[in-house]
Amino acid sequence: MERVYIGMGSNLADPADQLRSAVQALAQLPDSRLIGVSAFYQSDSLLPGQPRYTNAVAAIDSSLAPLDLLDALQAIELDQGRERQERWGPRTLDLDILLFGDRLIDEPRLKVPHYHMHARPFVLYPLAELAPASLKLSDGRTLAQLLDDCPFIGLERIPS
Ligand code: ATP
Ligand code: MG
Ligand code: MG
Repeated sequence: MERVYIGMGSNLADPADQLRSAVQALAQLPDSRLIGVSAFYQSDSLLPGQPRYTNAVAAIDSSLAPLDLLDALQAIELDQGRERQERWGPRTLDLDILLFGDRLIDEPRLKVPHYHMHARPFVLYPLAELAPASLKLSDGRTLAQLLDDCPFIGLERIPS
């Protein structure tokens, strides 16, 4: 079993409800156990004209192979009505693998650690609820150091 952190996001069709459904689906993943879920964080979209996002992070322990986990997460996205149109378009559900144990994965379909997580407050703050501040990311910086460089601006923490 390896500890896997999954970033969740939604900005369509009752985002908080989408995240709650996603958590239930994560709890049903084969060869995996749900360990915890952060609070939910609302923020404006990085792109103008999109509804506000709700984001959270979940921790699971899993013995699935990383690409099998990615397949399962994409199946959950589709099940919750995700339509893949333009990249970064509005979505009912986005599930990204942030960290998979201490693995570095560089496959065409899967890059881990997730390449944007270092600079995204809506990822780092919920992650910090579940992971130790000493957690080392790929570039050698700790979660605590990344948080220092990532002000808590524009985020609203709401109960899950
Ligand atoms: P971003 O990656 O900036 O958060 P996004 O999540 O909206 O954008 P998607 O449309 O969900 O992007 O995914 C595009 C592709 O990214 C997927 O088809 C998947 O194969 C690939 N991908 C690469 N690394 C990861 C990862 N760590 N977790 C999830 N998908 C990944
Ligand atoms: Mg994403
Ligand atoms: Mg994604």
